[in-house]
Amino acid sequence: ATPISVMVAVGRAAQAGILIRNGDALQTAGKLTCVLLDKTGTVTAGKPVVMQVLALSSMDKNTVLQLAASLEAGSEHPLAASILAAAKEHDLALESVSDFTALPGFGVRGVYQNQLLHLGNQALMESAGVQIAEPDVIERLAHAGQTPMLLALGQELIGIIAVADPIKPDSAQAVAKLKALGLHVYMVTGDNVVTAKAIAEQAGITDVYAEVLPSEKADVVKRLQQQGEKVGMVGDGINDAPALAQADVGLAIGVGTDVAIESADVVLLQGSLLKVPEVIGLSKATVNNIK
Ligand code: ADP
Ligand code: MG
Repeated sequence: ATPISVMVAVGRAAQAGILIRNGDALQTAGKLTCVLLDKTGTVTAGKPVVMQVLALSSMDKNTVLQLAASLEAGSEHPLAASILAAAKEHDLALESVSDFTALPGFGVRGVYQNQLLHLGNQALMESAGVQIAEPDVIERLAHAGQTPMLLALGQELIGIIAVADPIKPDSAQAVAKLKALGLHVYMVTGDNVVTAKAIAEQAGITDVYAEVLPSEKADVVKRLQQQGEKVGMVGDGINDAPALAQADVGLAIGVGTDVAIESADVVLLQGSLLKVPEVIGLSKATVNNIK
């Protein structure tokens, strides 16, 4: 495309809330063969809400929520925010938890009254040597599209907290448009495979990379590129920055984190995924104009 037509398109995009940080991206976007969508905050609203608290030991539900919140006080993860909000709603005071450690892709760990306190996914429980007492309950929650977080004190599973993060109202429409443009749409997430597939299905996505560690998202992009795909990656989080940078076109969505924005070629100011097919359409129109 000529510099002028690119400039015009960049201006038009800006009016639509699409910031093109890299002019080449405007020409590449129309040539993408697939798009990888991060789940949390990209396909979903990214504002998880606690739906259920299950107490599995002699402790009651409020104590489970209280301990979980006390542990999450040190975390910046959206899941932590949901637990802290639920604890606040129930007027639960935070207990003192020391030695907080975030374990990206797994959960969080701390020490409460000289015992290890873990909150996170099944893989975290396995690594902590905790037996999963309620596999059926966990499976059922995940099938409903909720993310079950497991709380263990020492080696004992003491509770399950189920969190829901519904898809954005126009995610399914955006996926349909991307497919109509001939793109293969994938979802990529650190969440468990059952929850991820349930959410993906609601958005009309059939291909899911789940339980992907934050450090592995960029590898998923690379693998698709090695198969000859031109990959667009859409994400909002710190986790997504390396994948955004690796992609042929990286698109940061919503307000996003600063790191995500800096790694992206395109910044979508509004949270709607409909902006992704819009950029691709704009790119095609720009490139066609010059021919
Ligand atoms: P996503 O791709 O949705 O951003 P992450 O890679 O951040 O997912 O996390 C993967 C999984 O690890 C989560 O679904 C959750 O089960 C667990 N996890 C991560 N961080 C936390 C946390 N702060 N509290 C509880 N669980 C967590
Ligand atoms: Mg995210």
